[in-house]
Amino acid sequence: MRFNNPKIIRIYEMLEAHFGFLDWWPGESKLEIIAGAILTQQTSWKNVEKAIKNMKARNMMSFGLLLNADIKDIEDAVKPSGFYRQKAKRLRDFLAYIRENHSTIKNFLSKDAMELRKELLSINGIGKETADSIVLYAAEKPIFVIDAYTKRAIKRIYGMENEMEYDELQDCIMKKIPKNLELYKDFHAQFVELCKNYCKKSNPLCTECPLRKVCNYCDILSQLKVGSFQGGYD
Ligand code: SF4
Repeated sequence: MRFNNPKIIRIYEMLEAHFGFLDWWPGESKLEIIAGAILTQQTSWKNVEKAIKNMKARNMMSFGLLLNADIKDIEDAVKPSGFYRQKAKRLRDFLAYIRENHSTIKNFLSKDAMELRKELLSINGIGKETADSIVLYAAEKPIFVIDAYTKRAIKRIYGMENEMEYDELQDCIMKKIPKNLELYKDFHAQFVELCKNYCKKSNPLCTECPLRKVCNYCDILSQLKVGSFQGGYD
């Protein structure tokens, strides 16, 4: 057992008290959420927003219209998100797969969470983080999304030597927090905000961070004798 229930819940409470409820993920439709999950691979959300804005301006944000759009037009619209040729193809192939196998996005997303995840992972270009983002935010089924931010924050907070692997960390978190859709959605968003604002890759802003009193990394850095996280809350 790498971490325990009271601490992980306390972390969520402290983050939520600091950032507020984040109501993530932004998107006016299931298609927009799926497109965002694919476009955000290897880029920042700011760039995804620009790509989605372009797609909307070109009237592409509907299943039929995007599926039938000229691939060059899709490439042009998603250019701000980087790897635009690859991402335009991924989007198109994804929609073609749904059309062929499930007819509609609604049918596809209505599957059981784990079956949906398994099928998503079988589609070319869909990795674990993208699959889980689609299951959680588009299908609205509770599965915990792990990303680089979550791995980094957990490693530091719990004073681990190395980052945990995706499946191990996901399993650990899901066993320790209530299986609640809104909690899962918001907790992932809280990790993103934490790392964007404080727990940066280089030079984390520990003295201003809302988790400074429970974080092992901050504890070591500041050389305060406040005890480890494990001892702090349990
Ligand atoms: S205290 Fe520092 S290391 Fe710990 S979570 Fe906050 S920013 Fe990251």
